[in-house]
Amino acid sequence: MMTNRNEQHRIAIIGAGPGGLTLARILQEHGVKTVVYERETSPTSRQQGGSLDIHPESGQRALREAGLIEQFQALARYEGEDFRLLDKTGKVYLDEVADSKEGDRPEIDRGTLRGLLLNAIDPSCIRWGYNLSHAIPKDNGQHELHFDNGHVDIVDLVVAADGAFSRIRPLLTNAVPTYTGLSMVELYLNNVAEEHPEIAAFNRRGKLFALSDHKGILGQLNGDGRLCVYAAFQVEQDWIETSGIPFERPEEAKHQLLKFFGDWDESLTRYISSAVGPIVPRRIYMLPVGLTWIHKPGVTLIGDAAHLMSPFAGEGVNLAMLDAAELALSIVAHQDLSAAVQSYEEKMYQYTAESAKMSDDNLALCFGEDAAPKLMELMNQYHDQ
Ligand SMILES: Cc1cc2nc3c(=O)[nH]c(=O)nc-3n(C[C@H](O)[C@H](O)[C@H](O)COP(=O)(O)OP(=O)(O)OC[C@H]3O[C@@H](n4cnc5c(N)ncnc54)[C@H](O)[C@@H]3O)c2cc1C
Repeated sequence: MMTNRNEQHRIAIIGAGPGGLTLARILQEHGVKTVVYERETSPTSRQQGGSLDIHPESGQRALREAGLIEQFQALARYEGEDFRLLDKTGKVYLDEVADSKEGDRPEIDRGTLRGLLLNAIDPSCIRWGYNLSHAIPKDNGQHELHFDNGHVDIVDLVVAADGAFSRIRPLLTNAVPTYTGLSMVELYLNNVAEEHPEIAAFNRRGKLFALSDHKGILGQLNGDGRLCVYAAFQVEQDWIETSGIPFERPEEAKHQLLKFFGDWDESLTRYISSAVGPIVPRRIYMLPVGLTWIHKPGVTLIGDAAHLMSPFAGEGVNLAMLDAAELALSIVAHQDLSAAVQSYEEKMYQYTAESAKMSDDNLALCFGEDAAPKLMELMNQYHDQ
């Protein structure tokens, strides 16, 4: 285990998402202590959401640095790389069947990934129920952190891993997330293999995208047997409020959602009609592609806080974990904390800009004209490379 004088620095990480936890774990592996502040009151206080594909050059690399790659491989679902692409008539454009034992980008449920990281971190490092309200820079480069519960901490480095609406980001840049033009309504089908075997067979073991008319029905089989469904709409920013859909009343909401898919094939609309439980509408936001800032001592951003992008390049969680690995290794390699952070930032700007652009382009393609044939063409080009 490497040690250096960073052991003496007080480092706070805001947010126990995949980025923050990966950073805490890799630093712990190198003998560097951190404190992670998380606003959620416990690891189980919020449903963690759908399945994520973890890429070799980023998410998997970070897990290797965290000493967790073998545990990840044991949990990963290689068959989850199955991918089907259709249009609203049910015409199939792509039907990819993955090898169930190996593949580049296996899937893992978000909750399982979080559990893997949490189990590997000294629990005394994590403070649940600490909602950061603001941070005040001090003249000596330290930061004073203020929490809603009255707690105050003074740290040598604060790492914002607090996601899309980071409360630390304004210390470094005026950039704010803007609406991408896409809103996604999240629904679930429980125990799909037993309760809806015909949908399970149709969807296969991974993801299904049905795209037409600036809309989509997206299905994603999770490791817990649920099918996560997104009904996606290219709409105005206030559509969630103005659509009149009562999202808090799921049966009525489903009924109204189905009206938007009146001429879609029943093999697709049953993804909505068969859903049970709460329905969650989400606006999809992004930060400017290629965002950078002037380095300041004692503070930095990782993950969505640094480069929020739409999920249509499948890179968000992977980049959050790669940022964590790059920052941790830089902290370990440098004697000077500020130099370590600056070196990480310069590197991160390079590798994130391309993904942010790809994500933006893919969103435009998936919800533009002739989306299904165009996405097929793009994916075929990608496979040919
Ligand atoms: C619908 C949808 C689908 C997606 N699908 C994919 C996908 O398939 N693949 C992929 O790679 N990415 C996907 N993403 C993106 C991915 O979820 C994010 O990029 C990733 O979670 C970013 O990780 P993070 O650690 O930076 O932030 P987050 O996961 O957002 O974690 C931030 C943490 O900080 C905590 N926090 C926030 N504010 C405070 C505060 N003030 N004080 C203390 N704690 C705070 C939060 O509670 C949270 O635990 C998707 C996103 C959405 C919205």
